[in-house]
Amino acid sequence: MRRFLVAGNWKMNTDRASGSALAGALAENSPSEEAGVEVLVCPPFTGLESVGRAIDGSAVQLGAQDVYFEPGGAFTGEISVEMLTDAGCGYVIIGHSERRNVLGEDDEVANRKVKAALAGGLKVVLCVGELLSQREAGNTEWVLDLQMAGSLADISEDDAKNIVIAYEPVWAIGTGVTATTEQAESAHLHLRNWVSGHYNSEFADQLRILYGGSVKPDNAEALMSQPNVDGALVGGASLKPDLFIPIIDAARSLANG
Ligand code: PEP
Repeated sequence: MRRFLVAGNWKMNTDRASGSALAGALAENSPSEEAGVEVLVCPPFTGLESVGRAIDGSAVQLGAQDVYFEPGGAFTGEISVEMLTDAGCGYVIIGHSERRNVLGEDDEVANRKVKAALAGGLKVVLCVGELLSQREAGNTEWVLDLQMAGSLADISEDDAKNIVIAYEPVWAIGTGVTATTEQAESAHLHLRNWVSGHYNSEFADQLRILYGGSVKPDNAEALMSQPNVDGALVGGASLKPDLFIPIIDAARSLANG
């Protein structure tokens, strides 16, 4: 049985005070280890330490939104795997559509980052997803295949066990437009089949695949109740406890229900 993961990507939002308050509210709602649901927050780098303190002792986990693949040195503006683990991170998001489409990262860069993160002991949330034009041209599955093959190149099954995939159709991110449950399930099933073909079916059965793209309290349960949807990567709604906690609660009731 796959454990739900509900992850909040705060993007370039929150300062130390507002981030700590938000994290504190989530920690109160997730006081201890839970069987069916894992909760993760990914604040900006400047908030890692203060958010880490606010969630200390709770079941909420800490992640970063990006990482660089080199271990250290003259890479102005970048941050290493070791710096993130030192700051208390257990997870890192890699290949988010904003990294790919705004900041020009490709699958090769994502692959180098995934390898470095796994080698340094971080778990990875690897994002894939098609543009609206690619969906409209009927190329969704082809794009997902390319992103999976490129981002996961030369990564063994053993290492891939520490990866979670996030299917995030770019047209649904921050737009208020959500994939239908059928669109999400179809893409997730395709991704799971890809993993089965490139690794094996037992591993594919265990791999978690999150949906991301305008997840809100009113659509979370329907999306996460799809057989191949194992949680959510949440942007906008993760910035407000009164929106994020009901999404976590939806995963809880599905897990326990
Ligand atoms: C995201 O940034 O990963 C995301 C899914 O954003 P939103 O929930 O705001 O669409």
